[in-house]
Amino acid sequence: MLIKHLTDDEVQQYAVNKSNCEKRIVEHIHLCEECRSKVEVYQLLINGIKQQPQPAFNFDLSKMVLQQLPSPKTSIANDNALIWIFGFMAMAFLGGAIYFFQSYFDLFESMRTIFIYLIVITAVTVLAYLFIDMYKKYKHGMKVLDLY
Ligand SMILES: [Zn+2]
Repeated sequence: MLIKHLTDDEVQQYAVNKSNCEKRIVEHIHLCEECRSKVEVYQLLINGIKQQPQPAFNFDLSKMVLQQLPSPKTSIANDNALIWIFGFMAMAFLGGAIYFFQSYFDLFESMRTIFIYLIVITAVTVLAYLFIDMYKKYKHGMKVLDLY
């Protein structure tokens, strides 16, 4: 006997992982066409999400769906994070180089100034490149967003 339908959470649970569901949920799905069609909708959504590169099934499904809907934005954010990581790595490398060559610089005070300028120029170039790259990605992302 069908007393009440499954909650969205229960339907999602079934759609995500049938084998881990309570028996009560499985039985209800088998008996109730309405809830079964809900499951089908969620499975379609899940399949859509699976085709995206982000594997994140520990999260609440509705949250995941919301995250995935503006997906170009999300992936841009990830790319930017990567760019920033590379940027920081570049800066750390430069910092290390400055530290490593500090003693040499002390011997050649005037050369030191020149080297510092060179390093600053390099750092600025790297940062400018990163910003241009980020801007390109951003523009590309905007184009992708426009298609939606
Ligand atoms: Zn039902």
